[in-house]
Amino acid sequence: MTTANTTGTPALAQGARAEATVDLAALRDNLAALRARTSGAELMAVVKADAYGHGALRCAREAVAAGAGWLGTATPEEALALRAAGIGPEQARILCWLWTPGGPWARALRESVDISISGQWALDELLAAVRETGVPARVHLKADTGLGRNGCQPHDWPDLVENAVKAQAAGLLRVVGVWSHFAAADEPGHPSIQAQLDSFAQALAFAERTGVDPEVRHLANSPATLLLPQSHYDLVRPGLAMYGLSPVPDVGAPADFGLRPVMSLAARLALVKRVPGGHGISYGHHYTTSGPTTLGLVPLGYADGVPRHASNTGPVQIGSSWYRVAGRVAMDQFVVDLGGDLPDVGEEVLLFGSGERGEPTAEDWARACGTIAYEIITRIGGRVPRRYVGGSRG
Ligand SMILES: *Cc1c(COP(=O)(O)O)cnc(C)c1O
Repeated sequence: MTTANTTGTPALAQGARAEATVDLAALRDNLAALRARTSGAELMAVVKADAYGHGALRCAREAVAAGAGWLGTATPEEALALRAAGIGPEQARILCWLWTPGGPWARALRESVDISISGQWALDELLAAVRETGVPARVHLKADTGLGRNGCQPHDWPDLVENAVKAQAAGLLRVVGVWSHFAAADEPGHPSIQAQLDSFAQALAFAERTGVDPEVRHLANSPATLLLPQSHYDLVRPGLAMYGLSPVPDVGAPADFGLRPVMSLAARLALVKRVPGGHGISYGHHYTTSGPTTLGLVPLGYADGVPRHASNTGPVQIGSSWYRVAGRVAMDQFVVDLGGDLPDVGEEVLLFGSGERGEPTAEDWARACGTIAYEIITRIGGRVPRRYVGGSRG
């Protein structure tokens, strides 16, 4: 039986082992809340890594319908998949930023995907593809303003910019963006924040002096969108916050920023049984029952993205009670000690959700496992069906 609950969020579908529910109305509301924090900057909905596990295509379509003019992906393959699914350049610009040698430059050009360039090797490969296809490129030059990951170091920046401007003068490309990425925007007051703002302003000033007239200058991820208005420039690139989680859990919960979690994860109890005291539970017997008790078997494991680090600690809600993972999380299943309670087999186990039903959140799981909420949601595996509710397109 499919049951309704107090907030009207649909429960697990009939017969489902487990399911991740993705609330597209929450996604839209989160985008509106983020937009309200900027003074007119455009929004790039970051949908890399299958939209942090939520489903890239559904989330991208919803974000575009909600007015996001830009989509962001890490790999070119992710960007091309969105184009192949019918999200055309008249609907959204798509930027991808993680290129490797031999990448699909020509396809990206033909599909009107914007290309981030962090170094000369990439500019060389891109220009070869431009000559081959006859399609001029839309390029975003990426500066390493201090993250020390992707992006061009300040000492290489003048050459990269000058070479891009030469190619622009030859009609081979247009530099449409200048951009960078923060190292610690989630740590208010971290000295790297001001240093990166200054470095970005310098990189930008050099590019503009050299003949770059960008459509968009962009720097802000989720924490910067929420906390650093001076970083917004023309475009903000929220990922996590769009999915309704707080990128700064020590500063504020989602609700403090007008956000609500988009994904909830539930499973159906596969077995409920009584066991005596002193019984070892799951591989390695890292949990032993302290007395006669009841156990519930949850049919989700690390193959589904439930971290093995949740062993003996991950929280779940059954009915209105919380329980903890007992023993190791296995590949496909884990056990909870029900402490004598006897829920029905088949009853819904909530691993995480918005919290509105009193259930744990992805942030609770992150804390239990010593990681960040980003990792909890993004790793929910392909074996878990996604169910979409609240979509604007029915
Ligand atoms: C992932 C990513 C983002 C989004 O980061 P959040 O912290 O999830 O908002 C923005 N820009 C770049 C370059 C990224 O890789």
